[in-house]
Amino acid sequence: MERYKAINEVGEGTFGTVWRAINKQTGETVAIKKLKREYHTWEECINTREVKSLRRMTHPNIVKLKEVIKENNTLYFVFEYMECNLYQLMKDRARLFSEAEIRNWCFQVLKGLAYIHQQGYFHRDLKPENLLVSKDAIKIADFGLARENDSQPPFTEYVSTRWYRAPEVLLKSPTYSSAVDMWAMGAIMAELFTLRPLFPGSSEADEMYKICSVIGTPTESEWADGVKLASVIINYELPQMKGVHLSALVPTASEEAINLMTLLCSWDPSKRPTALEALQHPFFRSCFHKIPPSPRFKTKNCNLPKMAAGKQEHPPPPARI
Ligand code: ADP
Ligand code: MG
Repeated sequence: MERYKAINEVGEGTFGTVWRAINKQTGETVAIKKLKREYHTWEECINTREVKSLRRMTHPNIVKLKEVIKENNTLYFVFEYMECNLYQLMKDRARLFSEAEIRNWCFQVLKGLAYIHQQGYFHRDLKPENLLVSKDAIKIADFGLARENDSQPPFTEYVSTRWYRAPEVLLKSPTYSSAVDMWAMGAIMAELFTLRPLFPGSSEADEMYKICSVIGTPTESEWADGVKLASVIINYELPQMKGVHLSALVPTASEEAINLMTLLCSWDPSKRPTALEALQHPFFRSCFHKIPPSPRFKTKNCNLPKMAAGKQEHPPPPARI
């Protein structure tokens, strides 16, 4: 750690504190996360979730882990430095973000997510505090809760911040998947438009209530597994509510944006678009030029996917991630 000069604390999370620091040899600014827990062996260190998952990930929309240092029994992660997190950007805003800004951020986060999922991981704690911004770039950070897709269920321990927590996690499904990140993405996207959380539950029960009041209580045909989870597994009576059209809550969003958020916040995880599918949604039509051109890829008459997330008849080619 002598190679770094600590400048100021930039964040405090569940698992550690984060400092801005300077590499004395190169002059480079970095972020150093000091973990709260003690680590006694090197093996213990490299087996932490964050190291195991992040070591393998190199992508422009994922915060780069540069170095892992164990000094005495303390573990430090050295990351590329980012200016601020998305929560900080939203909380001090008097003016709403433009749809173009929101589109650009969501496109980048989805590209990072598509990469994470493709690598066989899911993040599990996507929220504005874990999305870091520097100039035009936005990157996914904090892999403290990341999971391998094929790791063995049941997943029972604490998972993700409540406001962005998918309903299958709230209902204690033992086998949730990368679709939990897609739910969080929908909630974050709505918040970017309104600067207010979409489902600000004050407890787990209130979270469920807030979700029902926005998207309506799930019917058996809409989400059979969830209805069963609620009644049989946790003996929970779902509050009966009709829900509202998202355009009433997010009035400044375009029809395409509303359609995408509605799909992402589907009760049934299997009905949510994957990150790759979301990247191909008409909301990102103007971003398509960043994908290698394909003669098949005509966006002009591209219809919006149905709210029920029916498969498109002629799916566009995969997006570049
Ligand atoms: P925790 O697991 O404790 O939540 P995080 O990795 O999310 O830790 O970091 C906590 C906060 O520190 C973040 O919300 C962010 O504000 C800040 N932070 C984390 N990583 C960086 C970074 N690479 N550059 C700048 N700030 C960062
Ligand atoms: Mg965090």
